[in-house]
Amino acid sequence: MNPTVWLIGAGPGDPELLTLKAVKALGRADVVLVDDLVNPQVLEYCPQARVVRVGKRGGCRSTPQEFIQRLMLRYARQGLRVARLKGGDPCIFGRGGEEAQWLGEHGVSCEIVNGITAGLAAATSSGIPLTQRGLAQGVTLITAHSQDGATPDWSGLARSGTTLVVYMGVAKVQDMSSQLLAAGMAPDTPVAMIERASLPGQRLCPSTLESMACDAQAFRLRSPAILVIGQVAACRMFGVQDEAPPGQAPQRRQA
Ligand code: SAH
Repeated sequence: MNPTVWLIGAGPGDPELLTLKAVKALGRADVVLVDDLVNPQVLEYCPQARVVRVGKRGGCRSTPQEFIQRLMLRYARQGLRVARLKGGDPCIFGRGGEEAQWLGEHGVSCEIVNGITAGLAAATSSGIPLTQRGLAQGVTLITAHSQDGATPDWSGLARSGTTLVVYMGVAKVQDMSSQLLAAGMAPDTPVAMIERASLPGQRLCPSTLESMACDAQAFRLRSPAILVIGQVAACRMFGVQDEAPPGQAPQRRQA
């Protein structure tokens, strides 16, 4: 039988958001290749495994993608059970598709274990429903940062009528705001910028399309953060401000 590699989503940070399937796979792995954004607490589920850190943070020194892929292949061909652990979901801005394809071309099959992507967790843990009747009928997940420097079609996105959930957007807040305003999106469109979603120290910066750049700067917004743009960003599902849903620590909210 061909060797198999698990591509596992570790979720946004809170280890309790890991799936049971992820926990089981981690418990069976011999070697685990771990990305930067994975909360180290998740590694408690694989005490038996050799852990190899292969971080790739934007703008920092990182392990080349080619090297990571070859490492997975080498371990798999040695007959080891290999788990590749990524933040959020492996197939949402996580190169899961590329890696699965590359492994397939080299005779190694993959099992992809979904994780909760940061955009979903950031919204929910801030009391924001990404769709809500009368406010948004859909959601668009986008990255503000692409490897080839291509920019998103901001005017198409402005007209989409969907909630925009932006990944890797911290350095692009000003540009995003200008482009969406130029495309005709209302200046008072609500925006929520959520840093370290589901982790201790999660922060929420509520804003609007026209003031998001100033607000992000004053707030000292840092990566990792998710930006939610659209009418739903003004919703708070929890009745009382500063009241967290059952089982979660209260978040620090800043105006
Ligand atoms: N595969 C991941 C995304 C990786 S891209 C997923 O599905 O979530 C990295 C980006 O994800 C970061 O720049 C940030 O925009 C977002 N991100 C990841 N973890 C986050 C967190 N805990 N809080 C806020 N944003 C997060």
